[in-house]
Formats: sequence, C-alpha cells, structure tokens
Amino acid sequence: MAIQVFKPVFDVEACLSQIRECLERGWTGMGFKTVEFEELWKKYTGLPNAYYLNSATAALNLAFNILKSEKGWADGDEVISTPLTFVSTNHAILKANLHAVFADVDDTMCLDPDDVVKKITPKTRAVCFVAFGGNTGRYEEIVKICKEHNLALVLDAAHMAGTRLNGVIPGKEADCVCWSYQAVKNLPTGDSGMICFKEKAYDEIARKRAWLGINKDTYARFGAGSYKWKYDVEYVGNKYNGNAVMAAIAIAQLPHLDESNKYRRQVAAWYMEKLSAHKDKISFVRIPENCETSQHIFQIIVENRDELLQFLNEHEIFPGVHYITNTEYCMYSYGKGTCPKADYASDHVISLPCHLGLTKKDVYHIADLVIEFVNK
Ligand SMILES: *Cc1c(COP(=O)(O)O)cnc(C)c1O
Repeated sequence: MAIQVFKPVFDVEACLSQIRECLERGWTGMGFKTVEFEELWKKYTGLPNAYYLNSATAALNLAFNILKSEKGWADGDEVISTPLTFVSTNHAILKANLHAVFADVDDTMCLDPDDVVKKITPKTRAVCFVAFGGNTGRYEEIVKICKEHNLALVLDAAHMAGTRLNGVIPGKEADCVCWSYQAVKNLPTGDSGMICFKEKAYDEIARKRAWLGINKDTYARFGAGSYKWKYDVEYVGNKYNGNAVMAAIAIAQLPHLDESNKYRRQVAAWYMEKLSAHKDKISFVRIPENCETSQHIFQIIVENRDELLQFLNEHEIFPGVHYITNTEYCMYSYGKGTCPKADYASDHVISLPCHLGLTKKDVYHIADLVIEFVNK
C-alpha cells in the first residue's frame, strides 16, 4: 500500500462521543466545546490566554493585525520572518500592510539569530519565528534579541503542538503564539487553530475581531436575559471563529498528543539508526539537546532531491517538500537571493513519511530505499 508523508490517526470512538454531545445538545457553532478546549489548551501549554479559531492562518492574520493596531505600527513597518515556511506565515504580515523582511535559516531550519540581527532596521517592529517541524532551534536567542531591540515576537507554532523546550512548552516569552489543528498537524481536527496572546486585552480584541467585530458572541448571548440580543460592532472584523464540532475532535485527540509525538520521535530514531551511517551522502536537521521536538516532520538533505522523490514515488512512497522557499513565489520575489541557506534547503530537503501509521518495518524499508538511491 502507498505510504504518504502524513496520515492522521483519530481516536474515532472518543471523537464520535464528543461530537455526539454537540449534536444532542444542538450546539455545533462557536462556544460550548470551543470554550472547553480553550481551557484544556491553557492548562496543557501553561499559556495565559487561548482563543479557538478556524485555522492557524486566521490566528496569524489576527496576530499581526492586532499587534499593529494596538502598538501603533505604521503601514510598511517591517517584520523579520523566515522564507522557509508555509505561505500563511508571510501572508499574515503582508495582509496587515506590513513588510516581510526575510532572514536566513540555520542548520535547525529555523531562523538564524545572527542573520535576524543583521536584518534589523529602524522600521523593524517584530520577529516571526516558525518552530520548524516542532524544532525550537535557537528560539531562546531570538527571544533575547527581541527583548534587547524592543521587538514583538510572534511564534508560528503550527508544527509545534507538544514540543518541550527545557522540559516545558515554550511560548510564554512570545507576544502571541499561533497553533494549528489542521488535518495533518500533530493534533489533527479538520481545520482549526488557536491564538494565544500574552496580553489579556489583546485576547479580548481577538475575540471581537474574529467575530465580525461584534462585541458579544452568540454563546454569551445564548439563553434568556435582558438585552441578550443587543450588541455593538467595534471593528470591521473577520469570521475566523472555530466551532464546537472541530473542538470536540480536538478534545478527544488532546490526551493522545504526547504519546503520539513520542511515537513520531521513535519513527525519526528508526530512520536515524539506518541513515546516520551515510553522513557523506545525507545531511540531517540539527535538533538542540534541550528540545523535545513534536517531530511534525522528519527531513533529510540530499544532493539529488528531485530524483530521490521520483525514485521513492516509483516505490509507492510519497514524501513531501517543506518548503519551497517563499522567495521563489512571485509575491515574495523581492527577497530572492537574500537567504542562501533557505534556498539550499528549498532545493535539497525531503520530508520522509513520519506518522503514527508507520511500523518499524515501513521505516526501515523507506530508509533502505533512500540508502540504495544515494549509493547508486
Ligand atoms: C499549517 C501551517 C500554517 C497554517 O495552519 P492552518 O491551520 O492550516 O491555517 C501556518 N504555518 C505553518 C508553518 C504551517 O505548517
């Protein structure tokens, strides 16, 4: 059977029983399970605020929109970001009429703090750090740089659910953490995400801006009481809210997150057992000692990446590429050539299948094919 790069596994019975509660109660929209999951997520991460959304894309859009308006940034002010990410990250910066300035990645595939410092100008307002594949890279140095230069820090944690740094879930240092529960992320739902602002006041603004700018959500207006139907509209907001059905799946999946990440790390370890003997032909992403990664993806770096993809495809194995550097896209071509290491990664990385559906035998089989290819 064909092996894909990602394959979510659901606790079907637990999901159905959570969803059943929504259906029986007649509440599938915002509120109810979304509120319950926000509380569970705050407890799990230790972050002070959490608002459940329809995606991490929505979270990132809100993050830059709110930080810009509340901190008084001007159109064209700069956010330092990585070109090696899903386009949601950088689109969010542009959508807020801010300018994405690209800094290069290092051997962890995350932003290189040394290059970030070089890209700071008088117009820099924030850094957007992507915890690539669940790796925290040199995040602590980025935190320090942001403090020293009085820059806001947005953490794109789309890959990071369950990652520990020095034994704890990182994010308290950032102004805003954006999580994804998209269908193939480590805590899969269908589509949803979470925004975790450090500031309570920003969390309150996010709740309005995610709901058309209305200052009272339907859950708060539910039931009897005076003037429940009366609300004001304070912003030209979006419809970014999450719903109870997606939250029901998230609630059912959350208890499995740590054990499933452990299995992902086991998959990576099985790959390494086989592949690490071929360091002359294959390079690996560095994961710092103090990072217990969520292992959202497992990547190797090889000379003939496209041929290897083809070769594996011929054997019914379908790896992925994370990512084509965003400066290759016409939207971001202004940054072309500014991040040579990201360009190199873009041409040479391959994400081998990494998920809970793989057995040790599957992993060894894929690794053996990779070894056969690189030694051809
Ligand atoms: C998946 C992803 C997003 C967007 O998440 P959605 O929930 O699908 O909107 C943002 N950033 C990165 C790095 C991602 O991988």
